[in-house]
Parts: sequence; structure tokens; C-alpha cells
Amino acid sequence: MTDCQHCHKPMKPATANMLCANCRETYWQLIRQLGHVQLPALRSIMLRQARIGTPTHTPSRGNAPMPIDTHAQDLIADSEAWLAEQAGKIRAAYAAYDWRKAWYAIISNRHTILNMSTAADDYAALEHIIRRNEQALTPEDELIILGTCPNCHTLLTGTPEAETVTCQHCRTEWAAPAIKAARDERLWQVQITGTPSDAAKELKRYGLSVSRNLISQWLRRGKLTHATPTKHKRQYTFNLGELAALLDCHR
Ligand SMILES: [Zn+2]
Ligand SMILES: [Zn+2]
Repeated sequence: MTDCQHCHKPMKPATANMLCANCRETYWQLIRQLGHVQLPALRSIMLRQARIGTPTHTPSRGNAPMPIDTHAQDLIADSEAWLAEQAGKIRAAYAAYDWRKAWYAIISNRHTILNMSTAADDYAALEHIIRRNEQALTPEDELIILGTCPNCHTLLTGTPEAETVTCQHCRTEWAAPAIKAARDERLWQVQITGTPSDAAKELKRYGLSVSRNLISQWLRRGKLTHATPTKHKRQYTFNLGELAALLDCHR
């Protein structure tokens, strides 16, 4: 028995591959996604930017999605470098191809790509690239606050499903669940004054979905021992940690 070099699950020894059948399939899908979806999307963001110039301020939220476009160019460069490197491994001359031709060369050499001795490393590098692209292509209001970087305290945002997150500042990569757990701990120190609807909106920024009705219900049932009424009607000072913890029990 040998282990898959990517997911480290044992696989049948019959194959001389570095990757198990499952990982080969996922790897291949990521390659397709890079050339078929992500690169064209990133390039169109970059072109749009070039036309309108560098925006000094993102217009009001709710406007057309303008994600973290400042580094679209970096992401494109990294993506294209990955494609050029792989294409060059198929045949040295392919390394000079433009990205689209390189991608086609890769797509039409499935067997060679998947059986390359470097496949596991290439896959890991591609995963990283795909994840960063995905984050840049997600409209800002779909990103949630995952937590803060334990290293440099920069705010870490990502998609709700993210399994890992890379700090934009110090470039350290973290496991998202641990970052979120630390965040939820710290939420006990965060208070918000407003209506149940305001509290629900605030929690949504952390990817925690709770309806204002449920919060009102908790209030009526006396479940929010940390929530204190204010002199304004329907307004309370809520403890976000308490809301998050109750939500956790509720699920
Ligand atoms: Zn595997
Ligand atoms: Zn950091």
C-alpha cells in the first residue's frame, strides 16, 4: 500500500501515481476552473479597472461587486506562471506560450499532467492559487470576518466555506476553524447597541445567520442574560458572544 501524496489516504498499489483517484479528479477540475472561469474573470476585472482608473473609494455597498481588485494583477501573474510551468513540463517550448495556449496544452495532456512525478506539489500550489482567486472573485459582501491573524492581528476575511485563510499582511496561512473559534471567544467582549435586527445584521458579517425574530424570541424567553434594555424602545445592548453561543446551541 502507498499513500496518496495529497490527501494521504492509502491507495491501491497497482497505480504508479502520486495521487489517488479522488484527488486526480479534483485536481483536474481545478485546472479546468483556472483557465475556464477564474483567469477570464480576473482579466475582465483588470481591464475594467484600467478603463476607469484606480478607484479611490469603493462606492457604497450594494453597488456592483467590486472585490479586492487591487491585486487582480498579482493573481493573474501567479495563475499564468503556474500554467506556464506545467505546460513547460509537457514540452519545454510550451513554457513560452501565452496563458490560453498553455492551458489548452495542459487540458489536452491529461494523462501526462496527472502522472507527473511533481503532481502532488503542483496540485498543492494550484489549490493555493485557486483559493486566493476565489476570494478575490467573491463580492465583498459575501465575504465574512473569519477572525484576526494570530501573528500580526490583521483582520482575516474569507468565504464562509473557507478551510484555510492566508493573512494578506504577513502571508501566514491558518486553519479557518481555529481562527473562527478564537474569534467566537473574543466576541464575548464585543457589545452592540441596537434592535434585534441590528444585532442580526452584525452577526451576519461573521457568517452567523440568525433572524431578528429569533433574537426577539430569545429576549422574550429571558435567554439573553447579557442583553440589557436601553431607554430607547426595542433597543438593547447585546453581547455578541452570547448571541453566537446561543445560535450554536440552536443549530
Ligand atoms: Zn488523495
Ligand atoms: Zn498576519
